Amino acid sequence: MTSVFSDKLLTWYQQNKRLLPWRDNPQPYLVWISEIMLQQTKVETAIPYFQRWIDRFPDIATLAEANQSEVLQVWEGLGYYARARNLHQAAKVIMERFNGQLPENPTKLRSLPGIGEYTANAIASIAFHQNYPALDSNISRVIARLIALDLPVSDKNAKQQIHEFVWVQLPNGKADQFNQALMELGALICTPRKPNCNQCPLISECQANQQNRQNQIPRRIPKKSLPHLTVTAGVIWQDRRVLIAQRPQNGLLGGLWEFPGGKLEKDESLHSCLLRELNEELNLPVNIEKKIGVYYHAYTHFKITLHAFCCYPVSRSSPLPLNHQALYWAELNELAHFPMGKIDRQIAHTISKESICLS
Ligand code: SF4
Repeated sequence: MTSVFSDKLLTWYQQNKRLLPWRDNPQPYLVWISEIMLQQTKVETAIPYFQRWIDRFPDIATLAEANQSEVLQVWEGLGYYARARNLHQAAKVIMERFNGQLPENPTKLRSLPGIGEYTANAIASIAFHQNYPALDSNISRVIARLIALDLPVSDKNAKQQIHEFVWVQLPNGKADQFNQALMELGALICTPRKPNCNQCPLISECQANQQNRQNQIPRRIPKKSLPHLTVTAGVIWQDRRVLIAQRPQNGLLGGLWEFPGGKLEKDESLHSCLLRELNEELNLPVNIEKKIGVYYHAYTHFKITLHAFCCYPVSRSSPLPLNHQALYWAELNELAHFPMGKIDRQIAHTISKESICLS
């Protein structure tokens, strides 16, 4: 049975949905990959990554057999690398425990690395046509406006009200269309700022619009300002090769390669910081020479300014991976084959293009 609400929503969706590479062919594997990519990434950004991923890993078996470096390399640039590591790990679990098939049941789906309640319900509804609502922050924002909720959507009570509303409206047998329609409405019309209510198929059902409070709902929690860290990194040369280090498996940028270095301590100069970090991480005394550049990046919980320098070992020696999984002396033309975070890739580009430390 459908309600007036869901009839209007589904009609609008049929007429306005975007053509997306995972939409017309909702095979479970494609739906899973797209949902993980879209967790922190906009559709337009995700599309080329999705196509590249599917070309390289066309099915679960291929993904399970790949090595992690290759997986991270295909993901490079999308950020939140735990998503790629979890996809890879989950593919292995699916091969071992689920006979190579993504399970249909949301509880079993949630037992896989990287799949929470939203993603499990999205896959169960879109790929397996099961009747589960998929509530993420976008859909919660739309519902909060429809019911003029006076709470932040992260509030426990708010979640309960949103949940109840969506279960009442969910049309039996059409959860795949319903969930995607709400996602699309949140992306195209009921956007976080300045929703385009005049184009909205649900305007006559929307309490926020009737109260002219669509720009105040949902209530926002003031953001804390992010801590700012100053960091140094050494591009260490020996025999026209440069030293790169693989970060520990778990944690920020886990498994990616970097130019070693670390955080500036109170009252420390940039050079002292770099000398200390390279000793602590590699047991490697170096001479620091020219500066390569200054790089900025904002992560979810902090921002960094990184100062990169050319360095040369004081004497011929073998550094030790005291804080890393592995170390490698790379030729410049090999750097492209090692997955790196944004700043390290920028440094790699700079030294490759400008031969900056070789002159
Ligand atoms: S009428 Fe406006 S606020 Fe209400 S759901 Fe539609 S776009 Fe969102």
